[in-house]
Amino acid sequence: MLKPGNTIGILGGGQLARMIALAAAPLGLKTHIFAPAGDNPAFQVADAHSSAAYDDLAALEAFARTVDVVTYEFENVPVATAGHLESFVPVHPGPRALGITQDRLEEKSFVAGLGIRTAPFAAVDDEAGLEAALAEIGRPAVLKTRRFGYDGKGQVMIREGDDASAAFAAIGRHPAILEGFVPFEREVSVVAARTADGRFAAYEVTENEHRHHILHRSTVPADVTPAVEASASAIARHIGEALGYVGVFAVELFLVVEGGEQAVIVNEIAPRVHNSGHWTLDGAVTSQFEQHVRAIAGWPLGAVERLGRVEMTNLIGDEADTWHEVLAEPGAHLHLYGKAEARPGRKMGHVTRIRPEA
Ligand code: AMP
Repeated sequence: MLKPGNTIGILGGGQLARMIALAAAPLGLKTHIFAPAGDNPAFQVADAHSSAAYDDLAALEAFARTVDVVTYEFENVPVATAGHLESFVPVHPGPRALGITQDRLEEKSFVAGLGIRTAPFAAVDDEAGLEAALAEIGRPAVLKTRRFGYDGKGQVMIREGDDASAAFAAIGRHPAILEGFVPFEREVSVVAARTADGRFAAYEVTENEHRHHILHRSTVPADVTPAVEASASAIARHIGEALGYVGVFAVELFLVVEGGEQAVIVNEIAPRVHNSGHWTLDGAVTSQFEQHVRAIAGWPLGAVERLGRVEMTNLIGDEADTWHEVLAEPGAHLHLYGKAEARPGRKMGHVTRIRPEA
């Protein structure tokens, strides 16, 4: 168990690391960020930072010796990096959760193996394998690289009449997974926390609207039935337990309507704090960032209750130029990430708005 005055090491220097560091400070904890050189806005708010590559074993060891626990802000940290760090200091979530969630095929196999519903899927290693997978899954289908995909990158739809070979070329002929297309009504997610001794807390289901594959807006409460709320929380608990997970994670879900009933299908697990949980910064008793810190510190989890009807809107690229208007809006909470350059599609900040219950 951590004590106030201890230091959390965070791999990755983006906005998620920044908001974890900002949440650690009022709890009396320090942060040391480790990230390769570049625009690392988390450095601005941390007690210490190190710039080196994720495979620089000497730099990782030196970093590990200054911290009491290590966590990370994104799932593409090499498993070997997490494993190396673990020989010096606890790493939460652990390398196993990292390994499973950074490979879409392993992740879907893991979730389906728990008896939790996913889209139908098949492994694709080459063109012949893609033909076989299409024969099994049918069209439309979604072809995704197993690794390093996010915000719709590394994936392509294959519809009736589309050339499968061109689709495989479009994702760079990397090892892939073919998924049946889910005719979802909406996309929702559940953000939850688990501690090493098995304590668990899930926030309410969040409804997510994407634009150009990037999260645009989250609203809570989601327009879902109590059965879906319960099922989403149970799915998160089951996944968290099966992974032996420590920290905050998100499960992205497709909401489908079958025979007039809502049901959920797991799309993916994010082994970290998640954009669809940013509303908790102002809209819940405990933010997901504080919750993550509490969980990895082995401390009591905070209350997850919502403080009203909450809407979180991302500021993408030059949308962040509206900062002045947001500040002038009574009750709007502005969060800017301190990034140097507003490239198109780049998450620059977000706004939360909280309205009283209707
Ligand atoms: P992902 O990178 O897996 O999170 O996918 C990005 C987005 O693509 C999702 O948020 C969905 O909108 C869409 N998508 C991914 N997989 C499927 C699927 N099997 N069926 C329908 N839509 C999908």
